[in-house]
Amino acid sequence: MGEHRNISNAVIKRLPRYYRHLGELIEMGTERISSGELSKRMNVTASQIRQDLNNFGGFGQQGYGYNVKFLYDEIGKILGLDREYQMVIIGAGNLGRAIANYTNFEKSGFVISGIFDINPECIGQSIRGVPVRNMTELETFASNNKIDIAAITVPKSAAVEVADRLVKLGVKAFWNFAHVDLNVPEDVIVESVHLSENLMRISYNLSKSEDERGRRHYGKEKAGKRI
Ligand code: NAD
Repeated sequence: MGEHRNISNAVIKRLPRYYRHLGELIEMGTERISSGELSKRMNVTASQIRQDLNNFGGFGQQGYGYNVKFLYDEIGKILGLDREYQMVIIGAGNLGRAIANYTNFEKSGFVISGIFDINPECIGQSIRGVPVRNMTELETFASNNKIDIAAITVPKSAAVEVADRLVKLGVKAFWNFAHVDLNVPEDVIVESVHLSENLMRISYNLSKSEDERGRRHYGKEKAGKRI
C-alpha cells in the first residue's frame, strides 16, 4: 500500500466507480478493455482514465488495453476491499434495519457483526440472523469482538454520545447517518451520509434549471414582442 500514498483524493473518489464498472465487465465476461472503450462506458475522457490509472504504475499496455480482472483486483486492493471488515450498527430503527437488510455490503466484505439499540421492543429481535443487542452490552461485545466500523443510525440527539463511547472502545471508523457532526480524534475516520443534503442539491439544481428554462421562455416572449 505504501506506493499508493500519494494518490490524490480526487482519484480515490473516482475509484469506486471504476471498480463498479470493471465488476460489471467481469460479469459480462470481458477480459480486456481499451481506455477508449472504458471512456465511452463511463462517460469520462480516455485521457482522464489513462491519467487516473497511471497512478498505480499503469496497468494498461499499448495495443492491448487493460486486463479487466487484474485492474479490478488492484483497485479492490487499493480500496482495501481485499479483506473483511466487522461492522456494527447502532440504532435498529428504519435506517439501521435497511442497512442491516442490504446483503450487498457483505458481498464487498463489510460483515454486520452486531446491532445495538436501547428500545426494549426491538432488543432481542433478529435482523438477517444478527440479534439486536442492548446498548448495555456494547462494552462486553467490543472486548470480545473486533469492531472496525460503526454505522450510526440513532437520532441526532444521541449520536455524539454514542460515537464518544465507541471511540473509547477503540473504534476507528464511523459511517454516520445522523445529521450532526461527530467530534472525534484526528485519527478516526468519519464518512457522513446526510441524505437531506443530497436532496437539497437536487432541489437546488431543479430550481436552477427551472429558472433557466423560465428565463429562456421569457427571453423568447420578449423577442417575440419586439418582432
Ligand atoms: P428511527 O427513529 O427509526 O431509529 C432510531 C433508532 O435509534 C431507534 O430504534 C431508537 O430506539 C434507537 N436509539 C435511540 N437512542 C439510542 C442510543 N442512545 N443508543 C442506541 N440506540 C438508540 O430513526 P431512523 O429513521 O432510522 O433514522 C436514524 C438516523 O438517521 C437519524 O439520525 C435520522 O436523522 C437519520 N436519517 C434517517 C433517514 C431515513 O430515511 N430513515 C434519512 C436521513 C437521515
